[in-house]
Amino acid sequence: MSAINDGQCGLCSHFGESHKSSDKLVAILSSHQASETLIDECGHPKHAPLHLMVTPVSGCDGFAPAAYA
Ligand code: SF4
Repeated sequence: MSAINDGQCGLCSHFGESHKSSDKLVAILSSHQASETLIDECGHPKHAPLHLMVTPVSGCDGFAPAAYA
């Protein structure tokens, strides 16, 4: 497990955007901890058509803080 900080996918509203309420994603938002080996989709409008897959410790300039982080 790793600490997840602002700017990283695990705390981004686009990480796993199609299933944001899943237990796993909610747990990341509340604990700011996640497995580096978890892979999920990025729903950012510029990335979704490419089916970009990222980890909680990834990041990009499209970061948008998840509402309940
Ligand atoms: S790649 Fe960028 S937009 Fe997508 S989840 Fe990560 S920080 Fe958010």
